[in-house]
Amino acid sequence: MNAFHKLGLEDHLIQAVTDLGFETPSEVQEKTIPLLLEDDIDLVALAQTGTGKTAAFGFPMLQKIDIDSRTTQGLILSPTRELCLQITNEMKLYGKHCKGLNVTAIYGGASITDQAKQVKRGAQIIVATPGRMKDMISRRLVDISKIEYAVLDEADEMLNMGFFEDITEILSHTPDEKSTWLFSATMPKEVSLIAKKFMANPTEVTVGHKNMGSKNVSHEYFLVGARDRYQALKRLADANPEIFSVIFCRTKRDTQKVAEQLIEDGYSAGALHGDLSQNQRDVVMKSFRAKQIQMLVATDVAARGIDVEDITHVINYQLPDEIETYTHRSGRTGRAGKSGISMVIVSKSEVRKIKSIERIIQKEFIKKDVPSGMEICEVQLKALASKIHDTEINHEIDPYLNEINSLFEDVSKDELIKKFFSVEFTRFFNYYKKTKDLNSPSEGSRSDDYEKDDNSARFFINIGSKDGYDWMKLKDFLRDTLQLNQDDVYKVDVKESFAFFNTDAAHKDKVLEFFTDFKQDGRFVNVEITEKKSRERNRGGGGRRSGGGGGGYGGGGRGRNDRSKGSGSGSGFRSEGKSRRSDSGSSSKSPRRSSDFKPKGGDFSRPRKSRR
Ligand code: ADP
Ligand code: MG
Repeated sequence: MNAFHKLGLEDHLIQAVTDLGFETPSEVQEKTIPLLLEDDIDLVALAQTGTGKTAAFGFPMLQKIDIDSRTTQGLILSPTRELCLQITNEMKLYGKHCKGLNVTAIYGGASITDQAKQVKRGAQIIVATPGRMKDMISRRLVDISKIEYAVLDEADEMLNMGFFEDITEILSHTPDEKSTWLFSATMPKEVSLIAKKFMANPTEVTVGHKNMGSKNVSHEYFLVGARDRYQALKRLADANPEIFSVIFCRTKRDTQKVAEQLIEDGYSAGALHGDLSQNQRDVVMKSFRAKQIQMLVATDVAARGIDVEDITHVINYQLPDEIETYTHRSGRTGRAGKSGISMVIVSKSEVRKIKSIERIIQKEFIKKDVPSGMEICEVQLKALASKIHDTEINHEIDPYLNEINSLFEDVSKDELIKKFFSVEFTRFFNYYKKTKDLNSPSEGSRSDDYEKDDNSARFFINIGSKDGYDWMKLKDFLRDTLQLNQDDVYKVDVKESFAFFNTDAAHKDKVLEFFTDFKQDGRFVNVEITEKKSRERNRGGGGRRSGGGGGGYGGGGRGRNDRSKGSGSGSGFRSEGKSRRSDSGSSSKSPRRSSDFKPKGGDFSRPRKSRR
């Protein structure tokens, strides 16, 4: 027998519980469902995110209303459209064996007439955002004068968002005799105020410690230089090829910027924040739920209460202004008994905030190092191996196999595997091999390339393969013009329109001096020292796949009339990137803006889930 029986739920609701696969009631459900079923009481329930509050009020409401009537008897107010839709769906699932049940969602940004029509068909339960609800009341499109049960879900958030007046106004249209059930994660003054104002002697239920994080979530933090935040984010993503995550930023602007930058770097990402149109938000959320977007970059408000299954990581790109908010963020993962990881990227000045959060969540953070380039390569290589291993064979290739087989006739399996992996791996490897350690300097740098070598100087020069140079020719040219010895110029790396090379530090001034005002074929040849700092930001971080792939979905996250991708200025990230690039001495022909610095073979880290 299902443990929900004991709570007093009727058979058709138990059936739905079973269909949903709920086996045991959560604490908040265990405490509130019997209370609400037994009597018509007012209730204040405090429970953290992800504890199953929807079912805690949903099932009692479904059992208590009269489904044979077409009068609106239940009203659920929630802060955002997303939540409104989520609750509506959930209620429909809970009530799937209630014949004739009509649960209607009312929210801004969609046709008000359609919603009014649905209500008119006899909605016993309305789930609404306060703004649109108020609007519908003033236009007399809904009648809530016979409401028996009113739920204020995520009450603290609704008040945070400034819905106090709207809620007051809406409730003034409901009868005094109704029962009001308030659900909230926290109990700030404003919530007590609402409780006082609209409730008579409410019963209080508190679940667990107030604000305690989910026990299935582990908390990690990564200490990086303030300017390395974005690179760190990419590495965290690259080190977790199967990542499915929400990334929190503090402002709408940062949210948009980070999402755009990720998309540009070839990740499947999308933005969710209040400046997007409803339609855009819909598209993004739909893709995210379908796992076509791996990384949802969101503001706190936009992502509050969102329940998407199987989120593996929550990444705090920036810590929230209010430390309490951290609980809501980390509550996006570790749901429904699964484990999750909440990661925080912090700079030195923010480390003390970690301590305060630990006090609130009553759990300790694990301090971790941002994975090194080689660690990421290893992870990616293994992920590729298991992906290939698990790939189903596509028999469309059968007709071409003869030809392919004969090409590989003299290649052993061993060799073939090595070659095959090299195709993908080399690209990633080249991308990461020269990146620096991102962990904050106090933690000891482990950089093992020549950057660390004080006896060597790395130069940028603005001539490249399109000027007819390959590494040998460039080496010869440099040796001859600078009158250096055979081994004095090394690590020559020629790109299309620019190149890099090293000399011993002793030759540094000589090189720079020589190239001051140096002209060849009537054009200035510019040589500059590359700054140590500049390398990582241009090179580091593998793109998930060749650029653009994410764009389709990211499209949802971009402003409708947004400038087209890669057009440069405007985005803070891009312009930041530019200014840093100029550290490394590049002219307007930015050395690393071009795609030669992105690994192109998307397959290397393409997420398993299908996407358009
Ligand atoms: P909250 O509103 O407290 O943040 P939700 O009501 O959104 O939490 O529930 C979180 C998730 O847990 C949902 O996916 C829901 O279907 C699931 N869930 C709720 N109750 C149970 C239960 N008793 N057993 C298993 N899963 C549950
Ligand atoms: Mg909820």
